[in-house]
Amino acid sequence: MKPPPFAYFAPRSLDEAVKLIDEHQDDGKLLSGGQSFVPVLSLRLASPATIIDLNRVEGLGGASEMPDGGLRVRGLTRHREIELSPLVARLNPLLTGTMPHVAHVQIRNRGTTGGSCSHADPAAEMPAIALTCDADFVLTSVTGERVVPAGEFFQGVFTTALEANEILTEIRYPAWPKGRRWGFEEMARRRGDFAIVGSAVLVDFDEAGRCGAAKITIFGAGDIPLRIAEAEEMLVAKGLTPETMREAGRITSAAIEPRDDLHASADYRRDVSAVMVRRALEQTASPLRTGVAA
Ligand SMILES: Cc1cc2nc3c(=O)[nH]c(=O)nc-3n(C[C@H](O)[C@H](O)[C@H](O)COP(=O)(O)OP(=O)(O)OC[C@H]3O[C@@H](n4cnc5c(N)ncnc54)[C@H](O)[C@@H]3O)c2cc1C
Repeated sequence: MKPPPFAYFAPRSLDEAVKLIDEHQDDGKLLSGGQSFVPVLSLRLASPATIIDLNRVEGLGGASEMPDGGLRVRGLTRHREIELSPLVARLNPLLTGTMPHVAHVQIRNRGTTGGSCSHADPAAEMPAIALTCDADFVLTSVTGERVVPAGEFFQGVFTTALEANEILTEIRYPAWPKGRRWGFEEMARRRGDFAIVGSAVLVDFDEAGRCGAAKITIFGAGDIPLRIAEAEEMLVAKGLTPETMREAGRITSAAIEPRDDLHASADYRRDVSAVMVRRALEQTASPLRTGVAA
């Protein structure tokens, strides 16, 4: 099918882009990589009167190190650029390690981190990673910037804290502390498909090898990616052992409210969630799962 007719703008500056989206907020849509939006248009699931293409906006792409050692990823950064970036691998190896699970290379060449998080598919990897890392989202409009923590950004299926006149301009990942290890596991029908269920974890070990902090996210198992605070606290209290890793999985299964769909039943998702969390935690035993600060 062909998209419905629309007016097309291709601003060159962020200033111009925010003015345009402010002007057209009721009937305008932003276009980044187009990997989710163009199919939606072509299937006529949306018919915006105006499309504002962000691809020529100067300074909206790329990753850089922040003064405190954190990682700034601008909205228009392509998935593939994140995957191949030595800077990202040094500052946030969880992002690098997850990227091969996001669709296929052709899609990663065009799809962007801002587009993925704004689209907020419950089974998408980038929202889950941002939540696991306690990242901050920078939303820009004609009135300036506001910063929204990942935990408040995702609000429902395809629903975020973005207002109709805002652009997601960057995601800030806090600095990776010494002793941190990561794990990522997902179940998909084929490599590159959206996850049926997945889990991302970070564990901060102290110098004695004890678990000082844990972050556990499950995604594809509800309307938004979810942190499992009870399992995180249990791991800090009891440490990482084969039994506590299984317990973290059981706590996760009990905490989620998955739905039945064409791909899997809710019961299947509940069972697989426990396995995803346990396996992701097991990966943190490997010294290969550290960052440069380790
Ligand atoms: C076959 C296929 C398989 C895929 N598999 C996966 C997968 O396994 N995992 C996964 O995570 N993704 C997957 N994707 C989606 C892909 O990752 C897309 O890149 C992503 O969902 C959207 O990014 P985009 O840049 O293409 O955004 P677009 O399609 O351009 O936009 C998506 C939505 O976000 C809005 N938007 C875009 N940029 C901004 C911004 N900066 N600020 C505010 N709103 C904005 C748009 O208006 C639109 O509503 C797949 C896509 C396809 C076609």
